[in-house]
Amino acid sequence: MSTIQVQLCGLVFDLLLIDFILKHESVGLFSEKIFKQCVVVYTACITLDILSCIAIVNSDKIPASVVIASCKTYLISLELSTYYAFLYTYHDIKHLREDSNFGYSILITVLVGALITALLPVSYYYDGTELYSYGPATKATYIIAPAFIIATLLITFLQGKQMNAHRKNAVRYWMLIEIVAAAIQFIFPGVLLVGFGSAIGIYILYSQLENPDIYLDRTTGCFSMETFSLYIRQEYELVKNFSAIIVCNDREWKMGDEGTKRTLLEMTNFLNSFGDSKLFRLSGNDFALIYDKKEKDMNEIESAVNLDVIRERFKDSWTNINNTKFLYVPDGHIASTTEEFVAVYQRNRDKFEIGADSRTLEFDSVERIREYNGMIIEINDALNQDRIEVYYQPIYSIAADKFVSAEALARIKTKDGQIMMPGKFIPVAEESGLIEQLGQRVFEKTCKCIKECGLKEKGIEYLEVNLSVAQCENPMLSTKYQDIMKEIEITPDDINLEITESSTLNQRNVLLKNMNDLMNLGCNFSLDDFGTGESNLNYIVDMPVKIVKFDRSMVLDYFRSERAKVVMKATVNMIKELGLKMVAEGVETEEQMQGIKDLGIDYIQGFYYSKPLPQDEFLRFLEVRN
Ligand code: C2E
Ligand code: MG
Ligand code: MG
Repeated sequence: MSTIQVQLCGLVFDLLLIDFILKHESVGLFSEKIFKQCVVVYTACITLDILSCIAIVNSDKIPASVVIASCKTYLISLELSTYYAFLYTYHDIKHLREDSNFGYSILITVLVGALITALLPVSYYYDGTELYSYGPATKATYIIAPAFIIATLLITFLQGKQMNAHRKNAVRYWMLIEIVAAAIQFIFPGVLLVGFGSAIGIYILYSQLENPDIYLDRTTGCFSMETFSLYIRQEYELVKNFSAIIVCNDREWKMGDEGTKRTLLEMTNFLNSFGDSKLFRLSGNDFALIYDKKEKDMNEIESAVNLDVIRERFKDSWTNINNTKFLYVPDGHIASTTEEFVAVYQRNRDKFEIGADSRTLEFDSVERIREYNGMIIEINDALNQDRIEVYYQPIYSIAADKFVSAEALARIKTKDGQIMMPGKFIPVAEESGLIEQLGQRVFEKTCKCIKECGLKEKGIEYLEVNLSVAQCENPMLSTKYQDIMKEIEITPDDINLEITESSTLNQRNVLLKNMNDLMNLGCNFSLDDFGTGESNLNYIVDMPVKIVKFDRSMVLDYFRSERAKVVMKATVNMIKELGLKMVAEGVETEEQMQGIKDLGIDYIQGFYYSKPLPQDEFLRFLEVRN
């Protein structure tokens, strides 16, 4: 009976595993489910193994049919356990939505195998010490089970690229142990090692891959961000209805800060108390509660009610964390992939209106992300395919009575030949960082235009080029622009760079350094958008600009309101006294042009003279008008 002791050891292993697994909350991932089924089948297999041994030992006391039945059920369970090993591995590479015909045919194969095993005869041997079963049914098992083991191994080789190295190795060890155990038992039928081998194999799987702790966040013990991604992916693949509450915290937690950790744990405990939801800790200190029910309305109602409770509790208990905000997603299917869902959450977590502490994310939130992502692709393509065009809007000098300058304005020529306006792509370029490349491309093209088109002979003294805040904050800007001017061989005083005041400017010193470097070369600066919310007189005092450009809105106000007129007149006088020049933008009518002239502004830019023009039209314009 010594062999049964080995089997018993295996059984104890499996039972311990079941105990561990039952003690942990499960996130409900498909791989987890298959693993659990695996453990159950493996435990059943080893139990049946022991029972069949007991039956064989006692074959003189119990009917032969019972002994045979117990041997056959053991053999079938052995086949089934190898089938589960295959299933577990196969599911790692297969997506749930994919065609499952292959899965069904494998299931049919194992069922047919089981039927054959059940129908074939089996014999057993016991001599008082050694015992085993043999005969056609055993042989069938020795064909079917290794076939699944080999198929499992083959997956790790043929589809290895889709599995991470850790998973691949764990599965290979698992199968190797099963093969060694089976080989020993095949050669020495009395050494019943298969059950024990399987138990060790499944233990390796547990410790390496399926330990429930891997799904947890270390600090809080709720599910981790990575688990969140896996879970949401599964929700989409299974087309499940879910709603979500996302709690966003901006406060920084420092490692080792016990007080903060306690607060985090309190929050986790509180958020975990909503029975029907799953709690995840996302990046930083954000938490997500996912409500997952069959009926869409039910999880919406429940999550909406809970949202109110949660907001109240956060207000009452964690006042030290005053910046908690809530994102509410009534229908998780506003997005269609995990990546999209995470992108919507991350982009919206910082976009609350002043005073608001919660936002509901609907379909339009995702639509915006899609548009944003689509625009990033379009800008990149336009950069790569040289579809960034520069239009020039002439600037008229009242003193010289001709056009002495022009503003370079970016356009994207779309693939179907349409012209896309900067209002659409500049904000995306600024947010995504593409503005650096884009601005540089516009600058290069403008320099080339100065060089190649003989603008000086046509009366143009300099061209204006826009700079975004992000560009000004790049310490390499001045060097880069200097290199470009050198390479194209233009003198820097042909260029006037337009900057704007912005609340998003973080590195004023870098901006000033860039400005000084470029001014030392000979470039000049204009202050754009003056008179809009962002720009004020203080800025003119601080910044070494030569020209102030009045925004179109200020020009319009001047003609619309008496009070604005007073302010504009005073501003013009002050700027004049500072020795700066002025441009009025957005002048569209003769009356406006006359009014601006009378005001004493130096330059006029507006549709009254010309819209921004493509390079060749701009050149023709100058030939005719200058
Ligand atoms: P901006 O720098 O203030 O440029 C002036 C804008 O006012 C231009 O719009 C121009 O077409 C428009 N405009 C000029 N006169 C009139 C007028 O009489 N009536 C009306 N309704 N509009 C007039 P555009 O070309 O659409 O450019 C919009 C903004 O996009 C620019 O405002 C600038 O902030 C930005 N932008 C354009 N190109 C670039 C670029 O290469 N780099 C950066 N960073 N920003 C750019
Ligand atoms: Mg401008
Ligand atoms: Mg402007």
